Amino acid sequence: MNFELSEEQEQIKYSVREFAESEIRPNVLEWDETQHFPEELRPQLAELGLTGILFPEEYGGAGMGYVEYATIIEEIGRVDGSVALSVAAHNSLCSNHIYTFGTEEQKQKYLVPLARGESFGAWGLTEAQAGSDASGTRTNAVKKDGGYVVNGSKNFITHAIACKTCVAVAVTDKNKGNRGITAFIFEKSMPGFASDKKENKVGMRASETSSVVFEDCFVPDENRLGADGEGFLQAMQVLDGGRISIASLAVGIAQGAYEAAVKYSKERQQFGRPIAEFQAIQFKLADMATQIEAARLLTLQAAYLKDNGKKTTKESSMAKLFASEVAVRVAEESVQIHGGYGYTKDYPAEKYWRDSKLCTIGEGTSEIQRLVIAKQLLKA
Ligand SMILES: Cc1cc2nc3c(=O)[nH]c(=O)nc-3n(C[C@H](O)[C@H](O)[C@H](O)COP(=O)(O)OP(=O)(O)OC[C@H]3O[C@@H](n4cnc5c(N)ncnc54)[C@H](O)[C@@H]3O)c2cc1C
Repeated sequence: MNFELSEEQEQIKYSVREFAESEIRPNVLEWDETQHFPEELRPQLAELGLTGILFPEEYGGAGMGYVEYATIIEEIGRVDGSVALSVAAHNSLCSNHIYTFGTEEQKQKYLVPLARGESFGAWGLTEAQAGSDASGTRTNAVKKDGGYVVNGSKNFITHAIACKTCVAVAVTDKNKGNRGITAFIFEKSMPGFASDKKENKVGMRASETSSVVFEDCFVPDENRLGADGEGFLQAMQVLDGGRISIASLAVGIAQGAYEAAVKYSKERQQFGRPIAEFQAIQFKLADMATQIEAARLLTLQAAYLKDNGKKTTKESSMAKLFASEVAVRVAEESVQIHGGYGYTKDYPAEKYWRDSKLCTIGEGTSEIQRLVIAKQLLKA
């Protein structure tokens, strides 16, 4: 067993940290306050290989694995959860769905530009009536000559407005339950495809979230991913990877919140000494650091197994469940250590706290992760 990153992985971590510190950190507060989605970062993300992290060079990607991916998402999340969420949704949801289940033609046409960072990709599973229960999808696709006519809508879709490519699932046979759901690649320019206004969110405010509406949207046969009825199972497999990225995002947010707390506790003086000298604060910091380390290890374990071709349904959910709840706890303790100042926008603690909460909700809530884990445990 090797618990250290290789020299090359350390180098990737270092260059992403430098990028996040110089290009993201100075803007974090303003982007959050104004809900500005920083699409202007896309060329720089592409330059660093961060728009095609997981894909081979022949598809325009950087050819890295999940351990590198987890490290990258953590490093960006340490500075800004919103940008990390963008990179995560683009790579492991939209692009990875096409990479894993697309034909060679689909990969050339859609994955290559996504991996090169020509636009951000979106992925639509969630609907108003189908959140935790994705098998309750109501968006429907009716077979017509040469393709399908799609009607319905998707909720809470990251990059719904900025995307040029969106992978989404629709019901093609309502008598077959989740075996009657099919995945398609949509182009934003297809008539009948529209996005709605940006959601006004508590946290992750610089990440763009909106609904997608399909109104008699014709999608050709060649844009179907896999066969009719495979979409739900494909989506569940995509989420096995996606949950590693939310776990990494959570570890990054927790790490950022913890570092802010350490810094503040050394600066803030009460009773004639830095608050870091009080054992109550030291114990909080010790608990925070220990929980973060445990969350990181679970996340890297899932990433390592995924890189080695193992099925990671249980491990991905365990990492996502644990890391996201650690992020919320650590971010809250960071606010506590900052006292009243932690409750203001003068310090970064409150933003980590707001951003952290998404991690227990997106890509399956904590309750759903427990259901997934229990199902895997009881199967054995
Ligand atoms: C910022 C943001 C970005 C997102 N990006 C995307 C995206 O890009 N693509 C996409 O498809 N989706 C996206 N989502 C949607 C997200 O995945 C869903 O919000 C999430 O899966 C929960 O669904 P829901 O909101 O409908 O909650 P619900 O399913 O309505 O859940 C409500 C509550 O009931 C609980 N619950 C539900 N069923 C059970 C059960 N069987 N047992 C116990 N408890 C249960 C849940 O845990 C939760 O506490 C995003 C959401 C947000 C907030």
